[in-house]
Amino acid sequence: MHVLSIFGTRPEAIKMAPLVSALAAEPQLRSTLCITGQHREMLAQAMGLFGLKADRDLDVMQPDQTLNQLSARLTTRMDEVLRELRPDCVLVHGDTTTAAACALAAFHLRIPVGHVEAGLRSGDMKAPFPEEMNRRVVDVMSEWMFAPTPAARDALRREHLGGRAWVTGNTVIDALAATLARLDADPALSATVSGRYAWLTPGRRLVLVTGHRRENFGEGFRNICAALRELALRDDVEVVYPVHMNPNVRGVVMQLLHGLPNVHLIEPVGYLDFIWLMRRAHLILTDSGGVQEEAPHLGKPVLVMRDVTERPEAVAAGTAHLVGTAPERILRAARRLLDDADAYAEIGRRGNPYGDGHACRRIVDALCGRPVAEFAPPPL
Ligand code: UDP
Repeated sequence: MHVLSIFGTRPEAIKMAPLVSALAAEPQLRSTLCITGQHREMLAQAMGLFGLKADRDLDVMQPDQTLNQLSARLTTRMDEVLRELRPDCVLVHGDTTTAAACALAAFHLRIPVGHVEAGLRSGDMKAPFPEEMNRRVVDVMSEWMFAPTPAARDALRREHLGGRAWVTGNTVIDALAATLARLDADPALSATVSGRYAWLTPGRRLVLVTGHRRENFGEGFRNICAALRELALRDDVEVVYPVHMNPNVRGVVMQLLHGLPNVHLIEPVGYLDFIWLMRRAHLILTDSGGVQEEAPHLGKPVLVMRDVTERPEAVAAGTAHLVGTAPERILRAARRLLDDADAYAEIGRRGNPYGDGHACRRIVDALCGRPVAEFAPPPL
């Protein structure tokens, strides 16, 4: 069977990288890779780390392109690639415009679609926008649905979709485990990475921040920055914030946080560095999906700066707190995790509900028609 994997953004590259390697290593499958270039620089960073090379590059990005223009370019270019390569299965990931448009292009050509990270639901069709709609339409079109958790699989069952679903765990934990193993096995590499952060102040606790969601553009990011300004006034913390390339994020963050003491605004970092920073962090503030999934694996608490999440498992386990973007709420939750050592220690003892590092094996087994030993999260 010829499997064509398609992705275009940084998180997709990180989450699909171990799967593309596992597909290539499986004798029953032929694996090819097409990238869309939805995030050009950050995508290249992630692909370089995992040694991935694309067989096709759709190169769809244009300045100030609307979502409809992007979708149109994606489906048109994908149509050409699919007619040329004629794969037996197309694998897309998650909830991006790349995933939705490429799944539609495959569906129109009657090429079966497999959805990696299927079944996530925020329960609100408008938030996150456009991700919630993207993930739903991809599931509707999919024949294979790889749900990371039992809750995601249950959501798919409730919708009575036509495809088959398996609980596989999230492939991001496979990527994270492989990256941690690489850092641990290579002290020189680890020293090189830590050398890049020699400017961190010993004794200050690191608060790591990321943010990129469309739903937080404007007021949301202004509020997040206000909370960070206040938090950075403490003399026992240091904020490190790799600022996303999106101009809607960058403009506000640079305007409100640039030059403040105890706040380090840095360029988005490579995955190795980000894992190193997460490990070094005391606390993580984010609106990112992947970071919410990775943090529990490292025993780190996360404040999720959103009103809804399609990843409720860590909230239920107590490792993630849904705090929205109101500065007072963010600050209250951050202070508790900085000042209450018992509450903090308890979080480190919870397991990871998102995966065990064997998601790719399960997905390959399912594609090859072998029995799948599904992922079972640790009990709450
Ligand atoms: N990440 C990274 N460098 C950074 C910030 C994040 O490599 O500077 C990684 C992070 O570990 C996670 C992924 O990027 O695996 C998350 O990407 P993002 O937050 O852009 O998207 P989302 O997960 O919300 O879809």
